[in-house]
Amino acid sequence: MNISIVGAPVDLGAGRRGVDMGPSAIRYADLEASLRGIGHEVLDLGNIEAPVAESMHGGPAEAKYLGPITDMAEQLAGRVSGIVEGGRFPLVLGGDHSVSLGSVTGVARHRSIGLLWIDAHGDFNTPETSPSGNIHGMVLAALAGYGIPEMVNLGGFSPKVRPDRVALIGIRELDPGERRLLREAGAHVYTMHDVDLRGLSTVVEEAIERVAPGTDGMHVSLDLDVVDPQQAPGVGTPVMGGLSFRETHLALEMVAASQRMVSMDVVEVNPILDTHNETAQRAVQFTLSALGKRIM
Ligand code: MG
Ligand code: MG
Repeated sequence: MNISIVGAPVDLGAGRRGVDMGPSAIRYADLEASLRGIGHEVLDLGNIEAPVAESMHGGPAEAKYLGPITDMAEQLAGRVSGIVEGGRFPLVLGGDHSVSLGSVTGVARHRSIGLLWIDAHGDFNTPETSPSGNIHGMVLAALAGYGIPEMVNLGGFSPKVRPDRVALIGIRELDPGERRLLREAGAHVYTMHDVDLRGLSTVVEEAIERVAPGTDGMHVSLDLDVVDPQQAPGVGTPVMGGLSFRETHLALEMVAASQRMVSMDVVEVNPILDTHNETAQRAVQFTLSALGKRIM
């Protein structure tokens, strides 16, 4: 595969600083060489220009840094759109999860997609339901057509993905309002309860079956906080009881086996909270599994 990497060093969508260093940490963990090592051709396009919190006003309390985030997402969408036009595979490094607003918009401009959102959180809030006003918790809703018009209509079209073509995997923390909206929207939610009860492989198989058919492929958005914090401590918003190291690999190996992934982002790595860059190293290993690395 011909892969183009873009970094989005953005932390304005998160409540805590540090995920803006994610792209550096992931690159430092040898992403590019490792991808070459499994046979891909790789081009690193560097980072988009990302706004710094201290240099700007926080904006509305119910959707913090809305303006700078939509500007950033617009820029990233343009970059990703160019990669897709060039016939290459976009791999976006976050940053907080607000970067997916840009990456998914860029891909959806060219392709009708399904979406796998692998995350501890639903990210399906709107300003009305969000307890924090942090935009990284509203991104999936916006991509599916719910929430603030500036986010929903980014790039001039909506929704970026039909809600019934969205599957969330690994969920274990939902706000009451977003739980309601997820149900209403008809997104497929696979919580940790489902993973425990039915097994990870059943859940992932079903999720792919729900979102991929009838599309041009799937976008996979990997929020590292889906992994149990014991194995991935360096994330913005850790929640106990997550996927194990092997479960995460298996999920992504199944994505690779499906041959339906057309784009990917890897987000919420927080080097400040990490130990010896372990979480970024794991992020690289998981990405390799999604892109075809096999044990045998
Ligand atoms: Mg997230
Ligand atoms: Mg999360």
